[in-house]
Amino acid sequence: MEKNEEKIYVFGHKNPDTDSICSSLVEASFAKKNGCNAEAVRLGNVNKETKYVLDYLGIEEPRLLEEVEEGQSVILVDHNEFTQSVKGIENAKIEAVIDHHRIADIKTSTPLYYTAKPYGCTSTILYEENKNKIEIGKIEATLMASAIISDTLLLKSPTTTKYDEKALEELAKIAEINVEEYGLEMLKAGTNLDDFSVEELINLDAKKMEINGKTIVIAQVNTVSIEDSLKRKEQLEKAMEDEINNSKLDLFVLAITDILNSNSQLIALGKEREVVEKGFNKKIENNMIFAEGVVSRKKQILPAIDKNI
Ligand code: MG
Ligand code: MG
Ligand code: MG
Repeated sequence: MEKNEEKIYVFGHKNPDTDSICSSLVEASFAKKNGCNAEAVRLGNVNKETKYVLDYLGIEEPRLLEEVEEGQSVILVDHNEFTQSVKGIENAKIEAVIDHHRIADIKTSTPLYYTAKPYGCTSTILYEENKNKIEIGKIEATLMASAIISDTLLLKSPTTTKYDEKALEELAKIAEINVEEYGLEMLKAGTNLDDFSVEELINLDAKKMEINGKTIVIAQVNTVSIEDSLKRKEQLEKAMEDEINNSKLDLFVLAITDILNSNSQLIALGKEREVVEKGFNKKIENNMIFAEGVVSRKKQILPAIDKNI
C-alpha cells in the first residue's frame, strides 16, 4: 500500500477466527508503518481461542464494525466473498485483498492490490510479503504465529504448505514461543464451548456461500471430544433447522472437528443434504457422517459439496 491519508478499515470475515483478527491487526500495523491511516476492526465477537492470544499479548480486541458507508476505504484479509463481509461492502472502496480462499463473487469499480495464495493461512502471506521490507516486532510475530497455528491446526491440516511451516518456524523465534506448547494451549482455549448456547455454537465459525444458486452454510467447531460435543446433538439440530427455515438455506453442515485426532463428525441438514453423502461417499445416519481425516472446511468439506451441488 502506498502512503494514504484516508481512513482505511482492515478486517477479516464475519464470525471472525484467529486468522481474521490477527491478520487484521498485523496488516493494519504494517500499513501504518507505510504511512497509511489504517485501523483494524472486527465483524463479530472474538472467539475464545483468539481471546487467549490477545490476553497472552495483553492487547485490546479491535473495535466492532457494523457497516461501512459508500466510498469507505477498506482492506479485506482472510476473505473475499461479500456474503462473509461487512454490510455495505458492495459500495465500499476495496483498496486491497490479502486472502487464501477461493475467489468467488468479488467485483470492484476501481483497481486494487489483490494478493491471493493457496497457503494455509493469511498471516503466512502477510509474513512472506513483508519480512524483507518491514521490521517485524514480537507482538506482530506472535499474532501471525497464532493465526498460522489456528488455521493449520498446528500444521496438521491438509491445507498446510511448506510456506506455512517455514513462516511459523521463523515467527516463533521472533515471538519467543514454543510452538507445540503455546499452540496446544491456544487451540484448547477455543474448545471450551460449554457456556455457549446451541444458537451461538452453530454461528461461532459459520460461513455462508452461494453455489449454483443454492445457499449453504458450513459451520465448524473445534473440540477435544466429539462425544462430549454430541451431548447436545438434538438441540444443535433444532437450532440448525431453525436457521435453515429463517435464512432459507438449502444445506447446513456443522463440522465438529476433533483437533487431537484430526477427524470430523458432520451433522448435515437441509433439502440438499444428499450432496454430502455423494461428497463423502457415505450414508447419512442419524443426520451424521463421520469424516475420517477431515479437518479442513476449505480444502476437504467445501470441495466435496461444491462438486456435487
Ligand atoms: Mg478465517
Ligand atoms: Mg484464514
Ligand atoms: Mg477456520
